[in-house]
This record gives sequence, C-alpha cells and structure tokens, in this order.
Amino acid sequence: MPSARDLGALHAEIRGCTRCADAGFIPRAFPVVEGRSTDRILIVGQAPGEIELTTGRPFSGRAGAELRRWLAEAGIEDPPYRTSITKCFPGKAATGPGDRRPSPPEIALCAPWLERELALMKPRVLVLVGSLAIERLWGKGPLGTIVGRIHREPGRVLIPLPHPSGASRWLNDPANQALLRRGLAHLRRESRRVHA
Ligand code: SF4
Repeated sequence: MPSARDLGALHAEIRGCTRCADAGFIPRAFPVVEGRSTDRILIVGQAPGEIELTTGRPFSGRAGAELRRWLAEAGIEDPPYRTSITKCFPGKAATGPGDRRPSPPEIALCAPWLERELALMKPRVLVLVGSLAIERLWGKGPLGTIVGRIHREPGRVLIPLPHPSGASRWLNDPANQALLRRGLAHLRRESRRVHA
C-alpha cells in the first residue's frame, strides 16, 4: 500500500499535466483522478466527461451515477479509486452521441500516468470500464466475448464492464445485461475477498 504522501505527490503531478493541450489535442488540460492510498480496487474508465470539468471528480455525471448503482449492486457503497486512460475531457464526438474517443497519440501521452498509478497502487482488483480501457488492459475483442469474464494475474484480477454512459445501446440487449450482472457478481466476490 503506498503512503498517502506518495499518492498525493503523484496526483499533484498528474493534475499539473498539460501535454495534450500543449500538443493541440484539447483546448485546455484539466486532469481528473481521485482515490485513496488505502483503495485496493481501482476503476479505469475512458476519459472524464464535460461535467467533470466543473466537479473535478471522476465519474460524477450521469455515467457516474449509473456506475455507483452498479458498484452498490456489487456491495461497494464507497466508490474506490477512479482514473481513466486519458485524464482530461476530450470534447464531444463530432458525430453521434457521447464524447470523442481519445486518439492513439493522446492515449500514448497519458499512458505513463496510468502506469505510475498502477505501479504505486498495486490494485488487487482492476475494474475496466468501457471498450477503451478493456482494449488497453485486457485486449481487443467484442464486448460480448469479454464482459462477464474475469482474468487472474499474479497479485490482481481484472474485471471488464461495459461503459455506463448510456451512449452505447449495447446494454439494451437482455443477453448483454446478463453479462453485466455476471461481471458485477465477480466484482462482489473479489471485493469481499480483498476486504476480508
Ligand atoms: S489527457 Fe493525460 S497526458 Fe493529456 S493533458 Fe490530460 S493528463 Fe496530460
């Protein structure tokens, strides 16, 4: 478990990052990350949404409310460590609903922060929320073949979940809802294990 001081220092570094704004990918950098040094569960999403520009807290919009419902279903009332593949709001998608998916160069610029968070936190349970986080930390593939599964690595388990934003219609299919429920059951069991 890291010291609160080491985690605070890392968060201060992250919050001071302006790489993507400097490179012209986004108009303004506003990195968002939140968690305690005692958290054993770490949630990785895609990127903050527009609402996080005002709250400064990950998953604080509608998607966050849905994620909290999922966590509660898994027996987790107090949201654990929350971060993302890129930590600044990327802007709205040019077409269709939702936010713009961060580009590979932005993901590459931000990757060292996530690597440092994972190295420092050493989470026992890594929850991958949405296709981008799944792609980066689990591997590519259709959500329907990945959500509902669990992957054990030395010292940690990976649990993939769909994105709770509602922008995707994936969860409209009852079969996919069943996969989500299976993923949440994994999360409930693993959360109990790490907090036992
Ligand atoms: S997305 Fe990541 S790398 Fe880019 S400015 Fe924000 S914190 Fe820095």
